[in-house]
Amino acid sequence: MERSGRVTVAKGTALNADPASQLRLLDLQALDSALDRLAHRRATLPEIAVIQTLGARLGEVGDELVVAQTLDHDLAREQAKAETDVDQVRQRAERDQQRLDAGSVSSPRELENLQSEISSLGKRRSDLEDVVLEVMERREAAQAEISALVTERDKLTEEAAAASAQRDQVFGEIDSEVAATTAARAAIVPDIPGELLALYEKIRTQSSGVGAAALHRGRCEGCHLALNPGDLGHIRDAAPDAVLRCEECRGILGRTAEPGL
Ligand SMILES: [Zn+2]
Repeated sequence: MERSGRVTVAKGTALNADPASQLRLLDLQALDSALDRLAHRRATLPEIAVIQTLGARLGEVGDELVVAQTLDHDLAREQAKAETDVDQVRQRAERDQQRLDAGSVSSPRELENLQSEISSLGKRRSDLEDVVLEVMERREAAQAEISALVTERDKLTEEAAAASAQRDQVFGEIDSEVAATTAARAAIVPDIPGELLALYEKIRTQSSGVGAAALHRGRCEGCHLALNPGDLGHIRDAAPDAVLRCEECRGILGRTAEPGL
């Protein structure tokens, strides 16, 4: 089912404008719609979302990298401490062994104590060496993670740079199209009476960018609704310089000289 629009002569001070300038308004609308599309395209470029996603992941990778580097740093300290402990135990065992070898200890009880200490130092050293090995393994894992994160960060950085370059290229294309369209628009504006232009601008801000539409085969091109025969008759009877508006979308109706009216 097709809805029918209604047509009314512009309310308020009955606005009149010569038919040629009413048609120029349609040219202006075409350019304004083109500018709206360009602005929309610029704001919704897929590259913008890609850059955003890459940037978010880069932030995460950066955080994960800090965590892994901190862990590696802590483990390095832990390893150094364990190695120092091993060294101290080793040196003490060596000193004990030297005393034993020198034969300076004669008391059997002292001798026994010394031998017992050398034995427990050996056990302690072995435990500490296990600690060193365990810390080294954990460090190895932390460093492998750092390496993987750095690789990912570099890859993401490269992808973000490529997406930015692509975005900037499309921005450049859009911007020059905007400049050309804006220039064409500026050339049309002087052909349209101020009052008609003001009405058009007002409707445009109220009706999501459509201020004027052609009447084409009995249909308003703004809202795409067919006008009923009564309204079409009204349009036929209206003075050529009467400014007509679509009751549905409120747009100024530009009457072209087509026979299908
Ligand atoms: Zn309409």
